[in-house]
Formats: sequence, structure tokens, C-alpha cells
Amino acid sequence: MAALDGLPPLRDVIQRHGLDAKKALGQNFLLDLNLTQKIARTAGSLEGVTVIEVGPGPGGLTRAILALGAKKVIAIERDARCLPALAEIGAHYPDRLQVIEGDALKTSFETLADDGPVKIIANLPYNVGTQLLVNWLLPERWPPFWQSLTLMFQREVGLRIVADADDDHYGRLGVLCGWRTTARMAFDVPPQAFTPPPKVTSSVVHLEPVENPIPCSVSALEKVTHAAFGQRRKMLRQSVKPLGGEALLAKADIDPQRRAETLSVEEFCRLANCL
Ligand code: SAM
Repeated sequence: MAALDGLPPLRDVIQRHGLDAKKALGQNFLLDLNLTQKIARTAGSLEGVTVIEVGPGPGGLTRAILALGAKKVIAIERDARCLPALAEIGAHYPDRLQVIEGDALKTSFETLADDGPVKIIANLPYNVGTQLLVNWLLPERWPPFWQSLTLMFQREVGLRIVADADDDHYGRLGVLCGWRTTARMAFDVPPQAFTPPPKVTSSVVHLEPVENPIPCSVSALEKVTHAAFGQRRKMLRQSVKPLGGEALLAKADIDPQRRAETLSVEEFCRLANCL
């Protein structure tokens, strides 16, 4: 298949730079540039946008983002073996690709881009994906520095992100995402789209921050969701006992016989605000 940007096919890039996938780094590469374009397009227009990408690897998604017109890509990659391949992409798009070698979990994302809108797009390493998402959702200051998150997860995690009350996948992640963002499933990606194929289906999820989430302290919300979902099959009067049990529930006007998975995001915020 002809590449969209005149750069060599990714399979050749991987072979030439000896980038055999390392499991410990969650390396499952996407080699189909039509698919990486589809992921990048899910983020909407990239004109004038700085994109932060976590884990560019050999650069399949990076190339799509640049070809779709992002002003700049700032990519954080932990595996130094990928840097020469990424340098080739940088040479093809002068001054538009900045690669930072490092661990995304230790990166201060807020200060990376200096001006204009920022979107985050990534085919995330599965072992750190959820933690990164939570870090992007937790700052007290809101709206955040990013305009949207377009992220690939294992489908199971994607379902937890977009889940509402009364859904089997609803839990702490669903409450957090539902509180501060509108989150939607964009599409699934089958294992065979990756090299090497992972064991499970993946999903691309797109999140945009809501401008005015229900006023609530992050740490209080964390406390109530932790207690409530820690014993999700139990009635709330039992699961939130350490936080005040029936008295707390009465204050928040919530039936103590209900279970965590039936509470809406608004009710969790009310509970947090009564702590
Ligand atoms: N974006 C490429 C693609 O779509 O083909 C690669 C995606 S692969 C699932 C995940 C990438 O994240 C790998 O390149 C891996 O080396 C990198 N990575 C793993 N842990 C990381 C971390 N803590 N910080 C930054 N990059 C990391």
C-alpha cells in the first residue's frame, strides 16, 4: 500500500531499525496508515493544534497526525530504540515533531505546549493507560489544558470509561469520566490490526471536558467512589460505613439500601459534598 506521506512503509521502518516489540513496554504496533488516520481523524480538526502523543513507537500514528495537518506533535517515548525512526519523520516534517525520550508517567504535560489548543492522541501502552487517563482527569483546576483525549484502550477499559449507572462496567472510572467529560466509544480495533496482535479487542475512546462539572472536590469524590465500589455488591449503608454510613446517606438524601452501581454521577457528587 502506498504511504500517505511518501515515507517508507512501517514494516520496513521496523525491520531497518530492529524494533522487535517488547511486551514489557506494551508494544503492539499499528502498521496500517489508513487505520492510524482513522484514529487521528476521531480527534476532529487538527489545524493549528498541538498534539501530544504518548508512545509513538515507530511512528504510524504520529505520521497520520502530521499528515492531517497538526501544527506540531510532541511525542513522549520511553524506548530509545524508536528515536532514529522518529527522527526520520521529523526530517520529513521540519520543525513539527518534537520527541521527548522519557516516561509519560513522570512527565508534566501541562507545560509541554506553549500556545494554542492541545489535543492528546495515543495508542497507549496498556500497562500505563488507565493511570495516564486518571492523571489527565484529576487536576483541581478545570477545564484542563487539553481540548480532547483520543485514546486507544483494551475494549474492557473503554467500556468502563463510557459506562453510566446501572451498567455492569460502571465504576470509579465511569464516575470520574462522567463527572468531568463527555466520553464516547469511537470504534473497535481487532487484535489482528496490531503487530504483534494483543490477546483482546481494543477500542478508541474520545473524551472532551465539560466546561462546568458539578462542583465537587476531587479527593472527596475519590473517597466515596472508593468506598462504594470497593464493596459494589453490598448496600451503601454497609459500603460507606467508614465515611459515616446511614447518617451520611441521609444527609445526601440517598436510600441506604441502594448499591453503588445504581448511583448517578450527580448523586456521587452530592454524597461527596456531604462528607
Ligand atoms: N503509537 C505506536 C503505534 O500505534 O503503533 C505504538 C503504540 S504501543 C501500544 C505503545 C508505545 O508506548 C510503545 O512505543 C512503548 O515503547 C511506549 N511506552 C510504553 N510505556 C511508556 C511510558 N511509560 N512512557 C512513554 N512511552 C511508553
